[in-house]
Amino acid sequence: MARDPVVIIGAGVAGIRAAQTLTRRGVPNIILEAKDYVGGRVHSVPYQNTHFELGASWLHGYSQHPLKASVAKANLRTASTDYNAAHTLPGVGHRAGWHQLLQQAVARAAKAPKDAPLADFMAEIPDNLVPLITLENEMYYGASLEKLSGWNFDNGGEPDADDFMLLGGWVNWLKGQTRQLTIHLNTVIDTIQPTPKGLELRTSTGAKIMARAIINTMPLGVLQQAAAHAVLPELPTRQRQAIQRLGMGNLEKLFFTAPFASWPRHDVMIANHPLLPLWYDATPLLGTPTLMALAGMSALAALPPHPTAADWLKLATPALRQLIPSGPLPTLVAHSAWHADRFSHGSYSYYAVGSSPADRRALQRPWLNGRYWLAGEHTDVAFPANIQGAWRSGERAAKALLKTL
Ligand SMILES: Cc1cc2nc3c(=O)[nH]c(=O)nc-3n(C[C@H](O)[C@H](O)[C@H](O)COP(=O)(O)OP(=O)(O)OC[C@H]3O[C@@H](n4cnc5c(N)ncnc54)[C@H](O)[C@@H]3O)c2cc1C
Repeated sequence: MARDPVVIIGAGVAGIRAAQTLTRRGVPNIILEAKDYVGGRVHSVPYQNTHFELGASWLHGYSQHPLKASVAKANLRTASTDYNAAHTLPGVGHRAGWHQLLQQAVARAAKAPKDAPLADFMAEIPDNLVPLITLENEMYYGASLEKLSGWNFDNGGEPDADDFMLLGGWVNWLKGQTRQLTIHLNTVIDTIQPTPKGLELRTSTGAKIMARAIINTMPLGVLQQAAAHAVLPELPTRQRQAIQRLGMGNLEKLFFTAPFASWPRHDVMIANHPLLPLWYDATPLLGTPTLMALAGMSALAALPPHPTAADWLKLATPALRQLIPSGPLPTLVAHSAWHADRFSHGSYSYYAVGSSPADRRALQRPWLNGRYWLAGEHTDVAFPANIQGAWRSGERAAKALLKTL
């Protein structure tokens, strides 16, 4: 009788890498994915002759990135982006000033007897540095100064100034990576039960699937939901603590187009807007006049619960007016909504006050006698919150599982 396959929940980068690792070792496996597309938080949506990336776009730490070679092989267009060389619009403070403040805050936080919000360690922030602070914390770490751990907010990650943006091509990279894999889309896992015959998964339509072992790559935001407790069998206390301690951040992307690019032609631009400071001229990469903006936790908090395109446009208009002082403004043609996505509940994980790398390490431990593993960016210590961490986590979980099979 054929053995049950290893079931991987989620066809994001972690799930894909786990499946590749098992497949290469000849271990039968299937990926079950809730959505109707592969990639999870790497998500390209078509627009005219190109694609907008509603999820990840950058290869951070490009020179050492594990996907550098496969991206190059797929002939995808990338461009170096450097915040240090960003074009700042009038009123935005100098970056060096912000960095000094941050370094002082890190030093003060390190000496503190207990962890506290990063905000507590910041000396009074001059108004003109607010856009840079918003940019750095909300867009890079995924959360506001009040939420981030003063001790650990920047634990892990890549060297600064080694970022390459890939726009319009992740979908093609994903096609190449998943060619050999068995993936069932539109398959939502509702429950997992250990039984004497193996692990039994139930889908939202009631279908039953037996697994020899499971690698669960559901995002941290999903694991934090009460409903996930049906999906997580016999969650040990330490893992439960870790899931609750780490934070799930928010980042949304906005894409604007126009008949021609009437804004300053710089790759990265910082506007004097406290909630939407970070703008990119994506025209060279996409081949069509496009501006991309990033919006973090505070921008979402300032908007109604499920912001519409009109809400975003209203918020963005003062920044657009700085970029284009007169004449028609570009049109908002696409925006993400990861905060409201029930299969992610946010953009990526961050170190919330009280959490530490030990929490991510705790999530790497299996339970159910080595048959049940978690993977995903939230479980990686060296590169959490990004593609690289997700990739490493899938490989790590699959290799660890192989040892127990
Ligand atoms: C807006 C945004 C911008 C980002 N920018 C960058 C960037 O520039 N560079 C970078 O390196 N990283 C970036 N990231 C982070 C990066 O996208 C993630 O770290 C990475 O893609 C996570 O991969 P994963 O496999 O861990 O999770 P996911 O990609 O989320 O995969 C998990 C999968 O599980 C599925 N799932 C959930 N629940 C169920 C269920 N019940 N049943 C079945 N399937 C389920 C989900 O649908 C999903 O497909 C960004 C993320 C966002 C949201």
